[in-house]
Amino acid sequence: MIPGIAEDAVAYLDGTFLPLAEARVSVLDRGFIFGDGVYEVVPVYRRRPFRMAQHLARLARSLGAIRIRNPHDEAGWQALVERLIAAHPYDDQIVYLQVTRGVAKRDHAFPAGDLAPTVFGMSSPFTRPDAAQRDGGLATVSMPDERWLHCEIKSVSLLGNVLARQYAADRGVPEVVMFRDGFLSEGSSSNVWLVKDGVLRAPVKNNLILEGIRYGFIESLAAARGIRFEMRPIARAEVDAADELMLSSATKEILPIVSLDGRPVGAGRPGPVYASLRQGYDEAIG
Ligand code: PLP
Repeated sequence: MIPGIAEDAVAYLDGTFLPLAEARVSVLDRGFIFGDGVYEVVPVYRRRPFRMAQHLARLARSLGAIRIRNPHDEAGWQALVERLIAAHPYDDQIVYLQVTRGVAKRDHAFPAGDLAPTVFGMSSPFTRPDAAQRDGGLATVSMPDERWLHCEIKSVSLLGNVLARQYAADRGVPEVVMFRDGFLSEGSSSNVWLVKDGVLRAPVKNNLILEGIRYGFIESLAAARGIRFEMRPIARAEVDAADELMLSSATKEILPIVSLDGRPVGAGRPGPVYASLRQGYDEAIG
């Protein structure tokens, strides 16, 4: 068995549902050889996928960006995800979907002809952020963003993100805050938000960050709650002078960042804009 994986975990692989521990992919799969594929992570609350349409739209965009044909239409993906959810005993789950270009002789260029993509899905229990994280916030460290220039693609080529996350782990904190050319980009696996004088700010949605599904969701929460939002480049000095920082992702939802490089953010505790957005988030997931 694989440590940390439930004995009864069920996976989907190329048309078949099977025990996760028995799922096998060829060593010539281009996902294994080149990281040539994309993925999605969909949170499920009380057996209902949250923002599913947005996740499927982003998956379609990622596939299009690297010219892999989308193996399913929206209804097909939905049916697949519903079966994965039903196969597991947990009410709150994290569904993982991955599509790679498929199996071919090793050659960097795309194989000729219509290669069948490898389609993989699995689900695991979703342990939501606990009270200590929600109410106490997270410590973070900063680092230069050393990733490539297509961070908008949710690619399985995650070496830059893996090394960034390990940079945090080596320093005993859960996440990094990355800067490219002196401007805020994002975390290793989260979007980063700033508050100054009551205004919520986030970096521009471009090729330098992954547009989280929570990005649009938090924008709409801010609008509904009368919080002014600005999307624009954010210089390092603004981050250092922020009243509040927070991050968002499918698994972390929205969490306050209370320190950066050992220095407190604002008052060093979660602020009022976070509290408002957190309340909106909890209400939306019911
Ligand atoms: N940015 C990066 C690099 C990520 O890996 C993630 C999610 O894992 C996000 C942002 C947040 O995206 P989402 O809200 O869709 O989880």
